[in-house]
Amino acid sequence: MRLFTTILGLRCYLDSCRFKRHDLERSGSYPEVATPLEIGFVPTMGALHAGHLSLIQRARKENKIVVVSIFVNPLQFAPTEDFQRYPRTLKQDQTLCEQAHVDALFVPDAEELGLIKRMTNGEWRSRSVSEGVMANSELKTPNSKLKTQNSKLKTQNSKHSLRERYANKTQNSKLTQVLPPTSLTSELCGRSRPEHFQGVATIVTKLLNIVQPTRAYFGQKDAQQLAVIRQLVMDLNLPVEIVGCAIAREPSGLALSSRNQYLSGTEREQAAMIYRALQQASSAFQAGERLGSKLIGAVKAMLTTAPNLIPEYVELVHPMTMTPLTQIEDTGLLAVAARIGSTRLIDNVLLSDRQPIVAIDGPAGAGKSTVARLVAQTLGLVYLDTGAMYRALTWLVMQSGIAIDDEPAIAELVSQCQIEFREQGTGNKDQEGKDLNSKLKTQNSKLKTQNSKLKTSTPSLASSAIFVNGQEVTQAIRSLEVTSQVSAIAAQPAVRWALVRQQQLYGKHGGIVIEGRDIGTNVFPDAELKIFLTASVQERARRRQRDLQDQGIGDVNLGKLEQSIYDRDRKDSTRSLAPLCKADDAIELITDGLTIQAVIDQIVERYNATIQF
Ligand code: AMP
Repeated sequence: MRLFTTILGLRCYLDSCRFKRHDLERSGSYPEVATPLEIGFVPTMGALHAGHLSLIQRARKENKIVVVSIFVNPLQFAPTEDFQRYPRTLKQDQTLCEQAHVDALFVPDAEELGLIKRMTNGEWRSRSVSEGVMANSELKTPNSKLKTQNSKLKTQNSKHSLRERYANKTQNSKLTQVLPPTSLTSELCGRSRPEHFQGVATIVTKLLNIVQPTRAYFGQKDAQQLAVIRQLVMDLNLPVEIVGCAIAREPSGLALSSRNQYLSGTEREQAAMIYRALQQASSAFQAGERLGSKLIGAVKAMLTTAPNLIPEYVELVHPMTMTPLTQIEDTGLLAVAARIGSTRLIDNVLLSDRQPIVAIDGPAGAGKSTVARLVAQTLGLVYLDTGAMYRALTWLVMQSGIAIDDEPAIAELVSQCQIEFREQGTGNKDQEGKDLNSKLKTQNSKLKTQNSKLKTSTPSLASSAIFVNGQEVTQAIRSLEVTSQVSAIAAQPAVRWALVRQQQLYGKHGGIVIEGRDIGTNVFPDAELKIFLTASVQERARRRQRDLQDQGIGDVNLGKLEQSIYDRDRKDSTRSLAPLCKADDAIELITDGLTIQAVIDQIVERYNATIQF
């Protein structure tokens, strides 16, 4: 692992990785030419714990290069907060990063990030506040001076409201800053920490520009921060994918936090009550409670049983917009901030009415689409054929006469094309011709009324037809020509980006079975049931031959099919963009020698065992 404290050093390192790759591509020894070097970035304030490590592990799994930054960001602390006291454990963090196979650790100081400036008299001045107003951001100011300035600040604080101080501070700043929308920052933590998110947004933007990662990883524990960052990346068109990661907890349920170090043994026990209270509300939600006042009430009631725990807020908001909710329509974020002694802790749970998602991944020709379609029918869910989406686009590219390697032209095409699924041949006049979105709505309202286990009997849907820009292409996309090009198209980052977003949109309300190559790892990492469906190359070639014969395409040589499946497997597993990947929590099903019905039965059985209604 390389350690960098300067922007130049880090950039030089990342450039050398990019150049090395470029050389390999030119020499033809790199497996894929078209995709950029993938860099995963985990920004932190250090004092690393298993929560940070879970982000690093995910980044390690999904990228070629992993960069971690450690910077205790003075901009996000108010003068009365714990900036000085915040744990700094660089040596230990370094060891943890080494062990987690991080490639580069970036540890800049406030001067390197341009937050403070050395004056000619040798003093350090903050660039984010007017001179002499705030000392906490002056990393290099001696402690005695800090104390005087802090007591000055306390007097000032009592005279001005938090918002006024924030406005003054922002006006007097000499630093270009990023101002997230008030709608995202006025609730939850923003109420008591009005300057916090501007500080976070400014530093995160700087770090993203320095590292220029493919993906950046943030914890759901800081749910408001995650919402702010998602919004800023969208609003500023930053070319990075933001990946939200689940909250890592101690066995007691207490969310891991660097600030847990401040807690005494008894405080730690009482702090665990925060999660228990959230769980209590979660159970009420599962039992059908949707009213914000009731859910919040359940949390507050439980928090009172921990005498040293002083709640700062218990709120129910929309997880993306942070708008307060009086009632949950489909999803809500129930969030808590509480003080215990001098320590401020936050935690949250997502309450979602989303119907289950079944993700089926596996190599080409393993029978994913047949199985997924039948599993969907059996469970009364909607089948979303992602492979068909890539095929449909490939068909359109070929029809439009665009060269398969003209990525910019294909990016334009995918941004503007409309891929739709419509139901066909159900014999049900209500369903026929409906597009997938309206169907999902009907489906979900039906599912919502089912309190018991889903039926596992009559298949309710026939296969759907696929349309591109209004033209039906259901059969055309299964041709050998499309089959031979689809992998190259699906490997293009822009294509993937656009189609994954469409898939996520289709799956927003759940109630779907979806198959592909990295559904359980990338598209729906929070799918309730993940299956990795596979079979030997020989078995898959035989099945493909039978399929082609059934479609009247004639006798295709088995050896050729084996070779093409073998080649496709290699390509799919070694591609640097979204390789074929089995999720850690996926169930592997090897289907050699199994009938389709046996495979369906196994999946349905798993579904019923996993999903609780
Ligand atoms: P921090 O060092 O507190 O700024 O955190 C760095 C990143 O780690 C942020 O994206 C946090 O949301 C994330 N993080 C902190 N604690 C946890 C946790 N218990 N589980 C998951 N992610 C976390």
